[in-house]
Amino acid sequence: MKKLTEAQKLEKQLGMEFEHIGKKRPEALEESMEFCEAYKVFLDAGKTERECVRFVEAAARKEGYKPFDREKKYKSGDRFYYVNREKCIILVTVGKKGLEEGARFNIAHIDSPRLDLKPNPLMEIDELAYFKTHYYGGIRKYQWGVTPLAMHGTVVLKDGRKIYLDLGEKPEDPRFMISDLLPHLGAKQNERPLKEGLRGEELNIIMGNYPMQGEDLKAPFKLMVLKLLNERYGITEADFMRAEIEMVPAAKASDIGIDRSMIGAYGHDDKVCAYTAFMAAFAVKKPEYTTVTVLTDKEEIGSEGNTGMASRFLDHFMQDLCEIGGVRVRDMYRKSVCLSSDVNAAYDPSFSDVFEKQNSSFLGHGPVITKYTGARGKSGSNDASAETMAMVIGCMERDGVIWQIGELGKVDEGGGGTIALFMGDMDVDTVDLGVPVLAMHAPYELVAKVDVYETYKAFCAFYR
Ligand code: MN
Ligand code: MN
Repeated sequence: MKKLTEAQKLEKQLGMEFEHIGKKRPEALEESMEFCEAYKVFLDAGKTERECVRFVEAAARKEGYKPFDREKKYKSGDRFYYVNREKCIILVTVGKKGLEEGARFNIAHIDSPRLDLKPNPLMEIDELAYFKTHYYGGIRKYQWGVTPLAMHGTVVLKDGRKIYLDLGEKPEDPRFMISDLLPHLGAKQNERPLKEGLRGEELNIIMGNYPMQGEDLKAPFKLMVLKLLNERYGITEADFMRAEIEMVPAAKASDIGIDRSMIGAYGHDDKVCAYTAFMAAFAVKKPEYTTVTVLTDKEEIGSEGNTGMASRFLDHFMQDLCEIGGVRVRDMYRKSVCLSSDVNAAYDPSFSDVFEKQNSSFLGHGPVITKYTGARGKSGSNDASAETMAMVIGCMERDGVIWQIGELGKVDEGGGGTIALFMGDMDVDTVDLGVPVLAMHAPYELVAKVDVYETYKAFCAFYR
């Protein structure tokens, strides 16, 4: 090794550098492999928030978590969970310290952008049967055409029974798709701005192209679809109004790159933080402070509704929990710290002009701490304090976790929000931390395996 000059030494001492984890720890990719195999299983099993909750509840029960019981006195190390309307789950491990010392919150969301069916979705045009959709979350519509889709959802029948749909995931299942024009006839469409490449009302899902036999039928192609849905699920057209049906990419999670260093999948945003969060909750068995891991819904449409973080469902739960211990809930909040665990946009060399490189997160550099989100002068942002940044960075450094700093793109280039501001509203010190993602909100998103595993370690460090 060449000897460093005094000035070079000084540069190292006073400066700062973020590096790819693989440069610092060549064995990091190998270490992340097993964890990421299990993460891929979760991705394929949980494409909607309800499916994620079912998966996590079953996993938590295996780990010894019991349903929350308001009548019970809990002691350090006890573990329990609470499910909100099948769409959110809260996992708690009681800390050595009482709740009057505050809790450690880690909140990720399990809803992802997708295409929801309209309440009256089925139509037939010129011998094709379609589902009409209304997209959920921020999507670039042109990305959702000509890709295989699967149908997931919940239908409540007239008699109150619930039916869960899941069609298009098994290899033998049929899949669904949205058509687009061929290049030969695309000249006029090519002139549209990209955001109108496919328009909202063009996101119609092809469901069938074979007619029912019979005289004087109003819509034989639509009827065939209804008949097959009825045979499979016992539903009729009126049942769509008592339903939530989501069309999601049918693609499975897979390794990306010849080095297998990355994972491509639908819904990394934000299942990647959800997975690492609950795995960390499972791993930290005797935390100092009570850990509260929340997997929530509705983040992609602004966290509204009673399963989103703008709702009081978490507050009500925390009130119940504090009452048991005779603690004033506001004392608990005031001393708590929260990680708003959500993904950030990774620097993309192909589109470098929207990023400010020095403050961007990079694939493979570990979890990204995002001090503030928002847009146009931090509007809508939680903006973590220096103290909160110091506390979280301190946890990382203590446990040797590799992390990076990042903000979402150049100033005034765009922006986005997370659930952080809602926890700020609750009087909790909050900062965003999560995995950098390429092609966020696309039907297939990309993360680096070392980032997934390092984020899990970051959450363990925070909880310990
Ligand atoms: Mn997100
Ligand atoms: Mn998102």
